Amino acid sequence: MSAARISQKGARRVAAGHPWIFRSDVERRPSDEPGVVAVEDHRGKPLGSALWSPASEISLRMLDHDARVIIDAAWWDARIESAIRRRAPVAARANAYRLVHGEGDGLPSLVCDRYDRWLVVQLLSAGLERHRDAILAALVRHCAPNGVLARNDAAVRTREGLPRETTLLMGDVPREIEVEEDGVRFVAAPWEGQKTGAFLDQRENRALVGRVARGRALDCFSYHGSFALHLARGAERVTSLDISAPALERGRANAALNGLANIEFVEADAFEYLRAAERRRDRFETIVVDPPAFAKSRAALSGALRGYKEVNLRAMRLLAPGGMLFTASCSFHLSRSLFHEMLEAAAADSGRRIALRELRGQPLDHPELLTVPETGYLKGALLEAID
Ligand code: SAH
Repeated sequence: MSAARISQKGARRVAAGHPWIFRSDVERRPSDEPGVVAVEDHRGKPLGSALWSPASEISLRMLDHDARVIIDAAWWDARIESAIRRRAPVAARANAYRLVHGEGDGLPSLVCDRYDRWLVVQLLSAGLERHRDAILAALVRHCAPNGVLARNDAAVRTREGLPRETTLLMGDVPREIEVEEDGVRFVAAPWEGQKTGAFLDQRENRALVGRVARGRALDCFSYHGSFALHLARGAERVTSLDISAPALERGRANAALNGLANIEFVEADAFEYLRAAERRRDRFETIVVDPPAFAKSRAALSGALRGYKEVNLRAMRLLAPGGMLFTASCSFHLSRSLFHEMLEAAAADSGRRIALRELRGQPLDHPELLTVPETGYLKGALLEAID
């Protein structure tokens, strides 16, 4: 096996705790097929092992900084076991959560989500794909699932020279899986749903919203209604809004599953609905704004900022005195500080006095590493209209 030799710049990045080495920092490319390769610095000093992706701009992803360690089935098993063990506090409250959050768990380009007795994985690099059997064996050993589905339809696979596909790796995985979080039940759609079938990253925020919900409530980008379900526990009436009719259909089914009759489902564009509600002088005691990623790229950031500011300022105006707004952004390109600035600008234009009650980040099962900004994307804030 030939070692990959990397530039001084690449080695500095690795030493600072980032696992990625870009194509431009690879001074000698290994001749090997994708898989695990040894990495050395520009003087030939061993730096450890990495996943090798010849077609990708992210050519190497560090796995282990100890050059003596062999990346075998036992290595994958131990890393996966420690990721699973870290989730114990979440497992006590929910049966749907992320078991492996890629780089955040020292398992670059691997995602694994648990939905009750089933697992959904994403293998997002060519190097990782070669170790599929060892990864699958470890997951089966530690979770004993009824089935494992690979949602390998993510666009990033193309950049790795990998096909986009959804394939069953083991057992059977149903089209719909009923799961539970903090006493609320909902149905996940592992084969066709967004991400791996549900938005698991908002679990703690849904619980927070459930605790502060009261009066009339509005969930603006509701998807399958998971915020709306938690709102409905504390609020008198909830309006669950989404532009997608099939998403609302699932929301209705979820409400029925929980015996909740106080949610109305409205198919509408959130921007238009908020403008119209403002004209009607509607008021809400509790509002949730959890839009899709408006900034899919850095270039889209300024347009996205206008969108975020508009929905937030309109939601602020609709708050009853003392009302609470939970707002989030899942755009990686919108940094925490830009998110904060956007909320300040929205508050300034809303004409309301808005207090910051809590800033929120990612839950325990989506670890955000300080040295790897790409592991973080979700930001949230709980705001209160003072008068
Ligand atoms: N809050 C959800 C996730 C929201 S995903 C949860 O935690 O599960 C974003 C949702 O916004 C999708 O369901 C999408 O259909 C919807 N959406 C996108 N653009 C919209 C718009 N302009 N108005 C209303 N809904 C929109």
